[in-house]
Amino acid sequence: MESSAGSAEGSISLADYEVDYSEIMGRLVSCPEECGMCCLCQPEVLPEERPFFKKNYPQFLVRTKGPQPYNALALKKGCGSCVFLENRRCKVYDHRTAYCRQFPYHIYASDKVKVELDLSCRGAWTGKGNDAVAEAKELIKAADSRIIEALEQSKAVYHEFYMNCKEAGVYQDPSMLRMTVSENASMFADLGYLSRIMDLSTIEPVMAIAGIRPETQLDMESLEEAGRELAMDSMSSSDPLSVPVYCDSQWNWNMFMAKDGRIEWLVMDDDGEMHHKEYAEATDIKLKVPDAEGTKVLIDYINTLNQRDSFMGSVFSMMDQNGYEDDMTNAYFGSLAVTVMDLLWRMSMLDHFMHIGTGADGVREAIIFYDMDRLDAPAIGAFV
Ligand code: SF4
Ligand code: SF4
Repeated sequence: MESSAGSAEGSISLADYEVDYSEIMGRLVSCPEECGMCCLCQPEVLPEERPFFKKNYPQFLVRTKGPQPYNALALKKGCGSCVFLENRRCKVYDHRTAYCRQFPYHIYASDKVKVELDLSCRGAWTGKGNDAVAEAKELIKAADSRIIEALEQSKAVYHEFYMNCKEAGVYQDPSMLRMTVSENASMFADLGYLSRIMDLSTIEPVMAIAGIRPETQLDMESLEEAGRELAMDSMSSSDPLSVPVYCDSQWNWNMFMAKDGRIEWLVMDDDGEMHHKEYAEATDIKLKVPDAEGTKVLIDYINTLNQRDSFMGSVFSMMDQNGYEDDMTNAYFGSLAVTVMDLLWRMSMLDHFMHIGTGADGVREAIIFYDMDRLDAPAIGAFV
């Protein structure tokens, strides 16, 4: 943790705050020219960015639909990449939005500020490029006033959430939950334990990880069904903007849409056109498990999730939606187990279509496919 940013040059901060850079310490991040994957997400245009676009490209400034509309840049054909992406390069690079500058970093405000790294960005896996912490510090400086505002609100939300938990008798110390997962991360990468954790989280008043025995007679059909339902849910939209995107190692933008139990694999081209590749019946996709090397990559990812405040915030959001019925222990361990199931089913689906395998590379590809959606889950804090 480091005291920050409140002192960005030329700006006046109302308060100092601390920034947790632990997730990105020691990481290098690059942005290969061929990628452009993050330009498939419609970037918000902040009030101070609006004059440039209004003056030079008024036709490309739009208002998004949905319950919380915002000013954004237009997309090709209304659902492709950003209109400013040409040959996978940004035409307005020096004037790109704060959202564009920040990716693949996410600044998450809970009762503190944490920088998280979107592992769907292939540039986060190259092991070369810019020092992630140095880049993030610049972004924190630039977002200073927005962070202060978001932090004030999110601190109040967290305070209220903890009070509600205590009142309902479901509060646990989040740091103790994290410690338990960190000491038992390999259990969350094992189907036998995962199955037990998912069961116990729904039937025990307050489940305990210590003493859990793995399921010896695995009901693969039920596990497969659980993973399938989770993954299919995220693919069940006819809007290309809402379905999961997977940028593969050849820089293709793959999309998957589920309808009536069938999954369609499509590839979006640079003009925003979708091209059909293949169909699969969802029930034909068999749940696969990572091999020993894949399991190591999976355990690393579980440890990353376990340290992410946005992951904890998404568990809290779910507890709030469920009316504080579940103990925080069950909600946290159960959510982590469900997340791993979702990821494993997606790995199995990618393997079905593209033969990515279940080793270290296969699990890594599944994380590249999955992490953006994971970070998109509703959370009670705020992404700045
Ligand atoms: S997803 Fe990552 S590598 Fe790809 S364009 Fe965005 S920042 Fe660059
Ligand atoms: S403004 Fe540039 S960087 Fe941002 S989404 Fe559009 S093309 Fe990508």
